[in-house]
Amino acid sequence: MKQSFFKIQTNKDAPHDEGSINAELLVKAGFVKKESAGVFTYMPIGLRVLKKVQHIIREEMDKVGMQEVLMPTLIQKENFEKTKRAGVDVAFETDRNYILGWSHEEIITPLAKQYINSYKNLPIAFYQVQTKFRNEPRAKSGLLRGREFIMKDGYSFHATKEDFQEFYEKVAEAYFEVFKRAGLRSYRITAGGGDFSKNISHEFSVITQAGEDVMIYCEKCGFAQNTELGEITSCPKCNSTLKKDKCVEAGNIFDLGEKYTQDFDLKFTNEKGESIYPYMGCYGIGVSRLMGTIIEAHHDENGMIWPKTVAPFHVHIISLDQNEKASEIEKILESNGIEVLVDDRDERAGKKFADSDLIGIPLRLVVSKKTLEQDSVEWKERSSDEAKMIKIDELTEEVVNYIKN
Ligand SMILES: [Zn+2]
Repeated sequence: MKQSFFKIQTNKDAPHDEGSINAELLVKAGFVKKESAGVFTYMPIGLRVLKKVQHIIREEMDKVGMQEVLMPTLIQKENFEKTKRAGVDVAFETDRNYILGWSHEEIITPLAKQYINSYKNLPIAFYQVQTKFRNEPRAKSGLLRGREFIMKDGYSFHATKEDFQEFYEKVAEAYFEVFKRAGLRSYRITAGGGDFSKNISHEFSVITQAGEDVMIYCEKCGFAQNTELGEITSCPKCNSTLKKDKCVEAGNIFDLGEKYTQDFDLKFTNEKGESIYPYMGCYGIGVSRLMGTIIEAHHDENGMIWPKTVAPFHVHIISLDQNEKASEIEKILESNGIEVLVDDRDERAGKKFADSDLIGIPLRLVVSKKTLEQDSVEWKERSSDEAKMIKIDELTEEVVNYIKN
Protein backbone atom coordinates (compact mmCIF):
# COMPACT_ATOMS: atom_id res chain seq x y z
CA MET A 1 0.00 0.00 0.00
CA LYS A 2 1.36 3.39 -1.01
CA GLN A 3 1.13 6.29 1.40
CA SER A 4 0.44 8.60 -1.55
CA PHE A 5 -2.89 6.70 -1.75
CA PHE A 6 -3.43 5.45 1.82
CA LYS A 7 -3.68 8.77 3.59
CA ILE A 8 -2.45 8.98 7.15
CA GLN A 9 -3.24 12.39 8.54
CA THR A 10 -0.65 12.86 11.27
CA ASN A 11 -1.16 15.82 13.60
CA LYS A 12 1.41 17.92 15.38
CA ASP A 13 -0.98 18.80 18.17
CA ALA A 14 -2.06 16.06 20.47
CA PRO A 15 -4.94 16.37 22.92
CA HIS A 16 -3.66 16.91 26.45
CA ASP A 17 -7.06 16.90 28.11
CA GLU A 18 -7.30 13.13 27.88
CA GLY A 19 -4.35 12.61 30.21
CA SER A 20 -3.28 9.40 28.56
CA ILE A 21 -0.61 8.23 26.14
CA ASN A 22 -2.98 6.22 23.95
CA ALA A 23 -5.20 9.22 23.20
CA GLU A 24 -2.22 11.45 22.50
CA LEU A 25 -0.50 9.00 20.16
CA LEU A 26 -3.62 7.75 18.38
CA VAL A 27 -4.70 11.29 17.48
CA LYS A 28 -1.16 12.43 16.65
CA ALA A 29 -0.57 9.44 14.37
CA GLY A 30 -3.95 9.82 12.65
CA PHE A 31 -5.36 6.47 13.85
CA VAL A 32 -8.48 8.03 15.34
CA LYS A 33 -10.28 11.35 15.27
CA LYS A 34 -11.81 12.50 18.50
CA GLU A 35 -15.40 13.58 17.87
CA SER A 36 -16.38 14.36 21.45
CA ALA A 37 -15.49 13.10 24.94
CA GLY A 38 -15.30 9.31 24.71
CA VAL A 39 -16.46 9.20 21.07
CA PHE A 40 -14.02 8.46 18.24
CA THR A 41 -13.88 7.84 14.50
CA TYR A 42 -11.45 5.10 13.48
CA MET A 43 -9.41 6.26 10.51
CA PRO A 44 -8.23 3.72 7.88
CA ILE A 45 -4.93 2.89 9.61
CA GLY A 46 -6.54 2.70 13.05
CA LEU A 47 -9.31 0.47 11.77
CA ARG A 48 -6.72 -2.04 10.53
CA VAL A 49 -5.48 -2.45 14.12
CA LEU A 50 -9.00 -2.68 15.54
CA LYS A 51 -9.84 -5.43 13.03
CA LYS A 52 -6.74 -7.43 13.96
CA VAL A 53 -7.61 -7.23 17.65
CA GLN A 54 -11.14 -8.38 16.79
CA HIS A 55 -9.76 -11.23 14.69
CA ILE A 56 -7.69 -12.58 17.58
CA ILE A 57 -10.71 -12.43 19.89
CA ARG A 58 -12.97 -14.13 17.33
CA GLU A 59 -10.50 -16.96 16.79
CA GLU A 60 -10.19 -17.66 20.51
CA MET A 61 -13.95 -17.47 21.16
CA ASP A 62 -14.64 -19.78 18.20
CA LYS A 63 -12.11 -22.24 19.65
CA VAL A 64 -13.94 -22.55 22.97
CA GLY A 65 -17.18 -23.24 21.11
CA MET A 66 -19.01 -19.92 21.15
CA GLN A 67 -21.08 -18.99 18.09
CA GLU A 68 -20.99 -15.45 16.77
CA VAL A 69 -24.21 -13.48 16.46
CA LEU A 70 -24.91 -9.78 16.00
CA MET A 71 -27.58 -8.35 18.24
CA PRO A 72 -29.20 -4.92 17.88
CA THR A 73 -27.93 -1.83 19.68
CA LEU A 74 -31.52 -0.63 20.18
CA ILE A 75 -33.03 -2.70 22.97
CA GLN A 76 -36.68 -2.49 24.01
CA LYS A 77 -36.94 -0.86 27.40
CA GLU A 78 -39.50 -3.44 28.50
CA ASN A 79 -36.74 -6.07 28.37
CA PHE A 80 -34.67 -4.05 30.82
CA GLU A 81 -37.74 -3.62 33.00
CA LYS A 82 -37.98 -7.40 33.29
CA THR A 83 -34.44 -7.54 34.70
CA LYS A 84 -34.90 -4.36 36.78
CA ARG A 85 -31.98 -2.69 34.99
CA ALA A 86 -33.98 -0.02 33.13
CA GLY A 87 -33.03 2.80 35.48
CA VAL A 88 -29.30 2.25 35.79
CA ASP A 89 -27.33 5.44 35.27
CA VAL A 90 -25.03 4.03 32.58
CA ALA A 91 -27.93 3.62 30.15
CA PHE A 92 -28.45 5.99 27.23
CA GLU A 93 -32.17 6.19 26.56
CA THR A 94 -33.18 7.12 23.02
CA ASP A 95 -36.86 7.66 23.78
CA ARG A 96 -39.58 6.11 25.97
CA ASN A 97 -39.23 2.73 24.31
CA TYR A 98 -35.57 2.06 23.68
CA ILE A 99 -32.23 1.93 25.44
CA LEU A 100 -28.90 1.86 23.59
CA GLY A 101 -27.34 -1.46 24.54
CA TRP A 102 -24.67 -1.36 27.24
CA SER A 103 -25.00 -5.10 27.94
CA HIS A 104 -27.07 -7.74 26.14
CA GLU A 105 -28.47 -10.24 28.64
CA GLU A 106 -31.85 -8.66 27.86
CA ILE A 107 -31.61 -9.76 24.21
CA ILE A 108 -29.67 -13.02 24.40
CA THR A 109 -31.78 -14.64 27.12
CA PRO A 110 -35.14 -14.36 25.29
CA LEU A 111 -33.28 -15.31 22.09
CA ALA A 112 -31.86 -18.46 23.68
CA LYS A 113 -35.43 -19.65 24.30
CA GLN A 114 -35.56 -20.53 20.60
CA TYR A 115 -32.72 -23.02 21.06
CA ILE A 116 -33.26 -24.47 24.52
CA ASN A 117 -36.01 -26.93 25.45
CA SER A 118 -34.17 -29.94 26.72
CA TYR A 119 -30.86 -30.76 28.40
CA LYS A 120 -29.86 -32.11 24.97
CA ASN A 121 -29.73 -28.51 23.70
CA LEU A 122 -27.18 -27.55 26.36
CA PRO A 123 -24.59 -26.21 26.72
CA ILE A 124 -24.89 -23.42 24.18
CA ALA A 125 -22.87 -20.20 23.96
CA PHE A 126 -22.99 -17.07 21.82
CA TYR A 127 -20.85 -13.97 21.46
CA GLN A 128 -20.86 -10.76 19.48
CA VAL A 129 -18.44 -7.96 18.65
CA GLN A 130 -20.43 -4.78 18.70
CA THR A 131 -20.76 -1.13 19.57
CA LYS A 132 -21.82 -0.51 23.15
CA PHE A 133 -22.96 2.68 24.84
CA ARG A 134 -22.43 3.85 28.38
CA ASN A 135 -23.43 7.18 29.77
CA GLU A 136 -19.99 7.61 31.24
CA PRO A 137 -19.58 10.80 33.23
CA ARG A 138 -15.79 10.48 33.25
CA ALA A 139 -15.19 9.72 29.57
CA LYS A 140 -11.47 10.28 29.16
CA SER A 141 -8.21 8.40 28.77
CA GLY A 142 -8.76 7.89 25.04
CA LEU A 143 -9.93 4.41 24.21
CA LEU A 144 -9.71 3.27 27.82
CA ARG A 145 -12.99 4.83 28.89
CA GLY A 146 -15.50 5.68 26.18
CA ARG A 147 -19.16 6.55 25.88
CA GLU A 148 -19.36 4.59 22.64
CA PHE A 149 -16.95 1.70 22.30
CA ILE A 150 -16.48 -1.73 20.73
CA MET A 151 -16.95 -4.71 22.96
CA LYS A 152 -16.97 -8.47 22.69
CA ASP A 153 -19.68 -9.89 24.92
CA GLY A 154 -20.37 -13.58 25.24
CA TYR A 155 -23.10 -15.55 27.03
CA SER A 156 -23.32 -19.24 27.86
CA PHE A 157 -26.19 -21.47 29.06
CA HIS A 158 -25.69 -24.73 30.96
CA ALA A 159 -27.70 -27.61 32.37
CA THR A 160 -25.70 -27.64 35.61
CA LYS A 161 -23.51 -25.33 37.64
CA GLU A 162 -20.65 -27.82 37.26
CA ASP A 163 -20.88 -27.67 33.49
CA PHE A 164 -20.88 -23.87 33.70
CA GLN A 165 -17.78 -23.87 35.90
CA GLU A 166 -15.90 -26.06 33.44
CA PHE A 167 -16.78 -23.74 30.56
CA TYR A 168 -15.94 -20.66 32.65
CA GLU A 169 -12.39 -21.97 33.13
CA LYS A 170 -12.06 -22.66 29.41
CA VAL A 171 -13.04 -19.07 28.66
CA ALA A 172 -10.56 -17.82 31.28
CA GLU A 173 -7.77 -19.71 29.50
CA ALA A 174 -8.92 -18.28 26.15
CA TYR A 175 -8.76 -14.77 27.66
CA PHE A 176 -5.14 -15.26 28.73
CA GLU A 177 -4.44 -16.38 25.15
CA VAL A 178 -6.18 -13.33 23.63
CA PHE A 179 -4.15 -10.91 25.73
CA LYS A 180 -0.92 -12.82 25.14
CA ARG A 181 -1.45 -12.79 21.39
CA ALA A 182 -2.12 -9.04 21.60
CA GLY A 183 1.27 -8.58 23.27
CA LEU A 184 0.01 -8.14 26.83
CA ARG A 185 0.58 -9.97 30.08
CA SER A 186 -2.70 -10.19 31.93
CA TYR A 187 -3.49 -11.09 35.51
CA ARG A 188 -6.68 -12.72 36.71
CA ILE A 189 -8.23 -11.10 39.75
CA THR A 190 -11.13 -12.43 41.78
CA ALA A 191 -13.77 -9.75 42.14
CA GLY A 192 -17.26 -9.26 43.44
CA GLY A 193 -20.12 -9.31 40.96
CA GLY A 194 -20.88 -5.60 41.27
CA ASP A 195 -24.06 -4.57 39.52
CA PHE A 196 -24.19 -7.69 37.41
CA SER A 197 -24.53 -10.38 39.99
CA LYS A 198 -23.68 -11.32 43.54
CA ASN A 199 -21.96 -14.46 42.33
CA ILE A 200 -18.26 -14.77 41.69
CA SER A 201 -16.52 -12.95 38.86
CA HIS A 202 -13.00 -12.39 37.62
CA GLU A 203 -11.26 -9.44 36.03
CA PHE A 204 -8.34 -9.70 33.63
CA SER A 205 -6.06 -6.76 34.26
CA VAL A 206 -3.02 -5.41 32.47
CA ILE A 207 -0.40 -3.24 34.18
CA THR A 208 -0.22 0.30 32.84
CA GLN A 209 0.32 3.71 34.39
CA ALA A 210 -2.87 4.91 32.70
CA GLY A 211 -4.91 2.46 34.73
CA GLU A 212 -7.42 3.65 37.30
CA ASP A 213 -7.21 0.54 39.46
CA VAL A 214 -4.34 -0.73 41.57
CA MET A 215 -3.37 -4.35 42.01
CA ILE A 216 -0.76 -6.37 43.84
CA TYR A 217 0.68 -9.17 41.77
CA CYS A 218 3.35 -11.80 41.44
CA GLU A 219 5.33 -11.65 38.19
CA LYS A 220 6.60 -15.16 38.74
CA CYS A 221 3.42 -17.21 39.09
CA GLY A 222 0.75 -14.73 37.96
CA PHE A 223 -1.09 -14.41 41.29
CA ALA A 224 -2.94 -11.08 41.52
CA GLN A 225 -5.34 -9.38 43.85
CA ASN A 226 -7.15 -6.07 44.26
CA THR A 227 -5.46 -3.93 46.86
CA GLU A 228 -8.86 -3.44 48.50
CA LEU A 229 -8.62 -7.01 49.67
CA GLY A 230 -5.84 -6.37 52.11
CA GLU A 231 -2.13 -5.62 52.06
CA ILE A 232 0.15 -8.60 51.76
CA THR A 233 3.85 -8.51 50.84
CA SER A 234 4.77 -11.99 49.70
CA CYS A 235 2.96 -14.22 47.23
CA PRO A 236 0.65 -16.68 48.98
CA LYS A 237 1.21 -19.12 46.13
CA CYS A 238 4.98 -19.10 45.51
CA ASN A 239 6.36 -16.81 48.25
CA SER A 240 8.02 -14.38 45.79
CA THR A 241 7.95 -10.66 46.54
CA LEU A 242 4.73 -9.04 45.35
CA LYS A 243 4.62 -5.85 43.28
CA LYS A 244 2.03 -3.10 43.31
CA ASP A 245 1.05 -1.15 40.18
CA LYS A 246 -1.73 0.67 38.41
CA CYS A 247 -3.70 -1.49 36.02
CA VAL A 248 -6.54 -1.42 33.55
CA GLU A 249 -9.29 -4.01 33.38
CA ALA A 250 -9.21 -5.47 29.86
CA GLY A 251 -11.76 -8.22 30.31
CA ASN A 252 -14.11 -9.82 32.78
CA ILE A 253 -16.08 -13.00 33.25
CA PHE A 254 -19.20 -13.42 35.38
CA ASP A 255 -21.22 -16.17 36.97
CA LEU A 256 -24.79 -14.97 36.32
CA GLY A 257 -26.43 -17.96 37.95
CA GLU A 258 -30.13 -18.19 37.17
CA LYS A 259 -30.94 -14.47 37.41
CA TYR A 260 -31.66 -13.80 33.75
CA THR A 261 -33.08 -17.21 32.89
CA GLN A 262 -35.59 -16.67 35.73
CA ASP A 263 -36.35 -13.08 34.66
CA PHE A 264 -37.27 -14.29 31.16
CA ASP A 265 -38.73 -17.62 32.30
CA LEU A 266 -36.30 -19.61 30.18
CA LYS A 267 -36.59 -23.25 31.26
CA PHE A 268 -35.48 -26.64 30.00
CA THR A 269 -36.31 -30.23 30.85
CA ASN A 270 -33.45 -32.02 32.59
CA GLU A 271 -32.61 -35.75 32.45
CA LYS A 272 -35.03 -36.45 35.30
CA GLY A 273 -37.87 -34.78 33.41
CA GLU A 274 -37.92 -31.72 35.68
CA SER A 275 -38.43 -28.23 34.21
CA ILE A 276 -35.63 -25.99 35.55
CA TYR A 277 -33.68 -22.81 34.74
CA PRO A 278 -30.37 -23.09 32.88
CA TYR A 279 -27.22 -21.75 34.55
CA MET A 280 -25.72 -18.75 32.80
CA GLY A 281 -22.36 -17.01 32.41
CA CYS A 282 -21.23 -13.84 30.65
CA TYR A 283 -17.84 -12.87 29.27
CA GLY A 284 -16.67 -9.41 28.20
CA ILE A 285 -13.61 -7.93 26.52
CA GLY A 286 -13.37 -4.23 25.77
CA VAL A 287 -12.09 -4.45 22.20
CA SER A 288 -11.36 -0.76 21.61
CA ARG A 289 -10.09 -0.48 25.18
CA LEU A 290 -7.72 -3.35 24.43
CA MET A 291 -6.34 -1.39 21.47
CA GLY A 292 -5.71 1.58 23.81
CA THR A 293 -4.15 -0.69 26.41
CA ILE A 294 -1.70 -2.15 23.88
CA ILE A 295 -0.42 1.37 23.17
CA GLU A 296 -0.12 2.15 26.88
CA ALA A 297 2.06 -0.96 27.19
CA HIS A 298 4.04 -0.53 23.95
CA HIS A 299 5.36 2.94 23.14
CA ASP A 300 8.34 5.24 23.62
CA GLU A 301 8.90 9.00 23.42
CA ASN A 302 8.75 8.86 19.61
CA GLY A 303 5.51 6.97 19.20
CA MET A 304 3.77 3.62 19.18
CA ILE A 305 5.55 0.24 18.97
CA TRP A 306 2.97 -2.27 17.71
CA PRO A 307 3.34 -5.97 18.45
CA LYS A 308 3.54 -7.82 15.11
CA THR A 309 0.20 -9.56 15.69
CA VAL A 310 -1.85 -6.36 15.77
CA ALA A 311 0.31 -3.90 13.82
CA PRO A 312 -1.51 -2.02 11.04
CA PHE A 313 1.17 -3.27 8.60
CA HIS A 314 4.14 -5.61 9.12
CA VAL A 315 6.69 -3.58 7.18
CA HIS A 316 7.15 0.13 6.54
CA ILE A 317 9.29 0.79 3.48
CA ILE A 318 10.76 4.29 3.48
CA SER A 319 11.62 5.29 -0.06
CA LEU A 320 14.19 8.06 -0.33
CA ASP A 321 13.68 9.01 -3.97
CA GLN A 322 13.68 5.34 -5.01
CA ASN A 323 9.95 4.73 -5.52
CA GLU A 324 10.38 2.29 -8.37
CA LYS A 325 12.64 -0.09 -6.42
CA ALA A 326 10.51 0.34 -3.27
CA SER A 327 7.45 -0.66 -5.25
CA GLU A 328 9.24 -3.75 -6.59
CA ILE A 329 10.17 -4.86 -3.06
CA GLU A 330 6.62 -4.14 -1.88
CA LYS A 331 5.15 -6.46 -4.52
CA ILE A 332 7.51 -9.33 -3.72
CA LEU A 333 6.86 -9.06 0.03
CA GLU A 334 3.09 -8.81 -0.48
CA SER A 335 3.08 -11.92 -2.65
CA ASN A 336 4.61 -13.66 0.38
CA GLY A 337 1.79 -12.63 2.66
CA ILE A 338 3.52 -9.61 4.21
CA GLU A 339 1.51 -6.42 4.74
CA VAL A 340 3.54 -3.51 3.46
CA LEU A 341 3.15 0.25 3.68
CA VAL A 342 5.42 2.29 1.39
CA ASP A 343 6.22 5.89 2.15
CA ASP A 344 6.46 7.15 -1.41
CA ARG A 345 5.50 10.70 -0.48
CA ASP A 346 7.41 13.73 -1.66
CA GLU A 347 8.62 14.59 1.85
CA ARG A 348 12.02 15.13 3.42
CA ALA A 349 13.70 12.09 4.99
CA GLY A 350 13.48 13.46 8.55
CA LYS A 351 9.70 13.79 8.32
CA LYS A 352 9.36 10.26 6.92
CA PHE A 353 11.44 8.76 9.74
CA ALA A 354 9.57 10.71 12.42
CA ASP A 355 6.19 9.62 11.02
CA SER A 356 7.40 6.02 10.80
CA ASP A 357 8.42 6.02 14.47
CA LEU A 358 5.11 7.61 15.43
CA ILE A 359 3.01 5.05 13.51
CA GLY A 360 5.09 2.25 15.00
CA ILE A 361 5.07 -0.47 12.31
CA PRO A 362 7.35 -3.27 13.62
CA LEU A 363 9.91 -3.34 10.79
CA ARG A 364 11.27 -0.36 8.84
CA LEU A 365 13.16 -0.86 5.58
CA VAL A 366 14.91 2.12 4.02
CA VAL A 367 15.47 2.09 0.28
CA SER A 368 17.87 4.83 -0.82
CA LYS A 369 20.52 5.45 -3.45
CA LYS A 370 23.14 4.63 -0.84
CA THR A 371 21.59 1.26 0.14
CA LEU A 372 20.97 0.27 -3.47
CA GLU A 373 24.64 0.84 -4.31
CA GLN A 374 25.23 -2.15 -2.01
CA ASP A 375 22.24 -4.12 -3.44
CA SER A 376 20.76 -3.73 0.02
CA VAL A 377 18.14 -2.03 2.14
CA GLU A 378 18.52 -0.75 5.70
CA TRP A 379 16.69 -2.94 8.24
CA LYS A 380 15.55 -1.43 11.54
CA GLU A 381 13.08 -2.85 14.00
CA ARG A 382 10.89 -0.30 15.77
CA SER A 383 11.62 -1.90 19.14
CA SER A 384 15.41 -1.68 18.67
CA ASP A 385 17.91 1.15 18.16
CA GLU A 386 20.15 -0.87 15.87
CA ALA A 387 20.05 -0.76 12.10
CA LYS A 388 21.74 -3.14 9.69
CA MET A 389 22.12 -3.57 5.95
CA ILE A 390 20.53 -6.57 4.34
CA LYS A 391 20.96 -7.84 0.76
CA ILE A 392 17.83 -7.57 -1.34
CA ASP A 393 18.30 -11.23 -2.43
CA GLU A 394 17.91 -12.37 1.17
CA LEU A 395 15.26 -9.87 2.17
CA THR A 396 12.04 -11.82 1.57
CA GLU A 397 13.13 -14.85 3.56
CA GLU A 398 14.40 -12.67 6.41
CA VAL A 399 11.20 -10.63 6.56
CA VAL A 400 8.94 -13.70 6.46
CA ASN A 401 10.96 -15.30 9.28
CA TYR A 402 10.87 -12.11 11.32
CA ILE A 403 7.11 -11.62 11.00
CA LYS A 404 6.22 -15.23 11.69
CA ASN A 405 8.37 -15.52 14.84
ZN1 LIG B 1 3.69 -16.12 43.05
